[in-house]
Amino acid sequence: MTAPEGAISRRGVCLVVAAPSGAGKSSVSRALLAAEPELSLSVSATTRAPRPGEADGVHYHFRDAAGFQAMVDAGEMLEHAEVFGRRYGTPRAPVEAALAAGRDVLFDIDWQGHLQLRERLPGDVEGVFLLPPGMAELERRLRARGQDPEPEIARRMAAARGEISRWTDFGHVLVNRDFDETVAEVRAILRAARTRRERQPWLAGFVAGLLGDGGG
Ligand code: GDP
Ligand code: ADP
Ligand code: 5GP
Repeated sequence: MTAPEGAISRRGVCLVVAAPSGAGKSSVSRALLAAEPELSLSVSATTRAPRPGEADGVHYHFRDAAGFQAMVDAGEMLEHAEVFGRRYGTPRAPVEAALAAGRDVLFDIDWQGHLQLRERLPGDVEGVFLLPPGMAELERRLRARGQDPEPEIARRMAAARGEISRWTDFGHVLVNRDFDETVAEVRAILRAARTRRERQPWLAGFVAGLLGDGGG
């Protein structure tokens, strides 16, 4: 079912994919973005240092503490939180523009960001939480990624229990056992979210037309 020619067919979906670090958020996000042309990533600002291969403006907007605080003070952040002792935040303008234009936005953010987004954008957010199949597997994945120094891995493993305990905040929860299956499940959640009545304001007129026409 599509909207009439020229009309914005629907309001975009805010798809939040959260998980304890190492459970597979970034990998799942990459696969979703490759598969879904109407979905784009919300590029967060952060005070953490770039990892090898990460580019400013692509993976994150890398800021020093003062630059980050300036964005907060200017009201440019839709949400922000401290994660692993670093600050992370979602720039507001690109998100609002995308949703209004009927494009979907993917958020690779933590549980605190998810709660704040739900408050700021009521009705727009679909939250998906990924669980690791086991704690030993989580640690193996953090190491396999090979991008964080050992103390950082220890810090992330220590934080994982607390993050996992937030699972009840999310409407959808998946165990990321088989990667392709996880991606397929999240795509199904996105497809279903797009058809929510509240996201399709044009339907009221369409149905009025249907009934007015006597169903012709
Ligand atoms: P980062 O964003 O640089 O940290 O990248 P990741 O550590 O998330 O992913 C590293 C590589 O592993 C990427 O090329 C992914 O596509 C790939 N990858 C992610 N998950 C899986 C999986 O379940 N199986 C396999 N075989 N490869 C995966
Ligand atoms: P996060 O973004 O949640 O910190 P990543 O996406 O970087 O996690 O994943 C951590 C590591 O686990 C990566 O090396 C990734 O390739 C691997 N991984 C992700 N999902 C799976 C899966 N279903 N099975 C096996 N390995 C996975
Ligand atoms: P990483 O340093 O591994 O890229 O991310 C660390 C954590 O910060 C992850 O849990 C990630 O989801 C979270 N994060 C990234 N960007 C944001 C953001 O804009 N807001 C919030 N609240 N969390 C974020």
